[in-house]
Amino acid sequence: MPTPLIAGNWKMNGSRALVDDFGRAFGDAELPESVAVALMVPFPYLDAASRAFEGTPLVLGAQTLSDRPSGAFTGEVSGEMLRDCGARMVLVGHSERRTLFGEDDDAVLARVRAALDLGLAPVLCLGETLEERDAGRTEAVVLGQLEVVFDALGADERARLVLAYEPVWAIGTGRTATPAQAQAVHGAIRARLARYDAGLAADTQVLYGGSMKAANAAELLAQPDIDGGLIGGASLNVDEFLAICQSA
Ligand code: PGA
Repeated sequence: MPTPLIAGNWKMNGSRALVDDFGRAFGDAELPESVAVALMVPFPYLDAASRAFEGTPLVLGAQTLSDRPSGAFTGEVSGEMLRDCGARMVLVGHSERRTLFGEDDDAVLARVRAALDLGLAPVLCLGETLEERDAGRTEAVVLGQLEVVFDALGADERARLVLAYEPVWAIGTGRTATPAQAQAVHGAIRARLARYDAGLAADTQVLYGGSMKAANAAELLAQPDIDGGLIGGASLNVDEFLAICQSA
């Protein structure tokens, strides 16, 4: 069984003050020993967060990275900079990056590679739109997004990824996938991983994301192939986020 991981994704929200609140609350919190916790904060807060989270269980992450190492790319942030500021993980291919910022499969793969090259753990996000679900294409879409990346990597690299299944229709909508709907896709992801390698399937953390909150976390996390959560809105409230971590 992979270690359960609860990862918060603040998106373009939060503040210096909220970073400090999380540092204090997680410094004092009693969490189940078996759970790992990460928080993906906006770029400008990384440095402060790496200080505020010191001595707490919070692992620091970012929400995207450039696919280039350095140079004349105004506005971009490299993986090296993320690492320099204390990040250990980075989201790649979040559906908001794919749809709002035009990141296609090649762009996602390039960012996964950039993260791996720098020793950052990529959290690769996968998910179907409502239209794709209604057309019966959920597995084809999700497994396709997985294969584009995994087929291009070596076995050692594949073993360093975390996966997050996030149905696009459940993100920020308050409409969570039912535990059975989520488990069905997580099971398909696990089975696909097993075709690469049985050990990979057993060890890869596959998180669920999409309107997960304290009230529904326990039943989602109880599913056999759900190894944690990627939490957006509910990760902005420290008590709510702690409650989710405690239910893992
Ligand atoms: P949500 O977002 O929890 O607000 O639905 C999840 C995500 O996009 O990672």
